Amino acid sequence: MKKQESKKINPKQRQSRPGIESKMKPVPETEPHEFRKGKLHNKVALITGGDSGIGKATALLFAKEGALLSIAYLNEVSDAKATKEEIEANGGKCYLIKGDLSREAHCKNVIEKTIRTYGKLDIVVNNAALHWEAESIEDITTRQLLKTFQTDFFAYFWIVKYAVPHLSKGSSIINTTSVTAYQGSPKLIDYSAAKGAIVSFTRSLAMNLIEKGIRVNGVAPGPIWTPLIVSTFDAKKVSEFGSDVPMKRPGMPDEVAPCFLFLASDDATYINGQILHPNGGEIING
Ligand code: NAD
Ligand code: MG
Repeated sequence: MKKQESKKINPKQRQSRPGIESKMKPVPETEPHEFRKGKLHNKVALITGGDSGIGKATALLFAKEGALLSIAYLNEVSDAKATKEEIEANGGKCYLIKGDLSREAHCKNVIEKTIRTYGKLDIVVNNAALHWEAESIEDITTRQLLKTFQTDFFAYFWIVKYAVPHLSKGSSIINTTSVTAYQGSPKLIDYSAAKGAIVSFTRSLAMNLIEKGIRVNGVAPGPIWTPLIVSTFDAKKVSEFGSDVPMKRPGMPDEVAPCFLFLASDDATYINGQILHPNGGEIING
C-alpha cells in the first residue's frame, strides 16, 4: 500500500508506556520503499533550465531513475544538445524546447509540446533563472525589475498554471528558490525578492494542490558552480565564489540534484510545502 493511501483515522486504542509497536492497529509502516525499476520509472518530468548547472544534474539523475525528460532552455543550444546526448547515450529520452519562458505564451507552449511528445506530465521542476547585479535600488530600472520577475517568478507561475490540468494524484512540483530568499543579497535585490516570492508561492500552492494529491516543494541552493555564476559576476568574485559558507567552497550541481530526486519521488510522500537547503552549511530559518 502506498503511504498516501493510508487511512487517516485509527481505531481507538491505548497502551501503557513505552508502547509495543506490533500491537498497534494498524501496525506502523516501516519497510523501506522498493523501487525495482528506478525511483521515477516511466514518469514524465519537465525541467526548465535543464540544459546546464543544477537543472542538468537533475535531468541526468531523473533519467537514471527512469524518468522521460522534457527540457526547456533559453538559447544555449550546445549545452542543451550535450545534455540530451548524455541522457540518450544512457538509454533515456530527452525532448528539448528552446525559447524565452518570460513570455506566458511560451510557457503554455512548453507544456503543450511536452504533452504532445509524451502524452502526460508527472513532475514539474521550475528552475530557469537569470540575475543582474546592481549597486543600489536606484540602479534597478522598472524594465529590469519586470525582466527579473518575468523570468524568475512569473514563468514559474505560468508553467504551473498550464501544467496543473495535466497533473494528477502523485504528481510533484518543485521550485528552485535560493538562499538569497532567506538571507537577502545586497546587490541582487530584485532577484532575491523574486526568490522570496517563489518560497511563498510554493507554500500557498502546496496547500492549494494537496487536495488533488499533488505535492509542491522547493530547493534553496547556496553557492553552486554553474554558468549562472560565471555569466553574472566579475572574475574576482567568481574566483572567491562559495568561500564564505561554513564548508568554504561552492557546491557542485550534482550535490543539489538529489534534493530534487527526493522531492519528486515516492520517498517524499509526506513532504509538502517545504524547502530543502543544499547550501554548504548555512543555518537559516525556514
Ligand atoms: P544555469 O545557468 O546553469 O541554469 C539556469 C538556466 O535557466 C539556463 O541554463 C537558461 O537556459 C535558463 N533560463 C534563463 N532564463 C531563461 C528564460 N528567459 N527562458 C528560458 N530559460 C531560461 O544556472 P543554475 O545555477 O544551475 O540555475 C538554476 C537555478 O538555481 C536558478 O533558479 C537559480 O536562481 C538557482 N540558484 C542558483 C545558485 C547558484 O549559486 N548557482 C544559487 C541559488 C539558486
Ligand atoms: Mg544554460
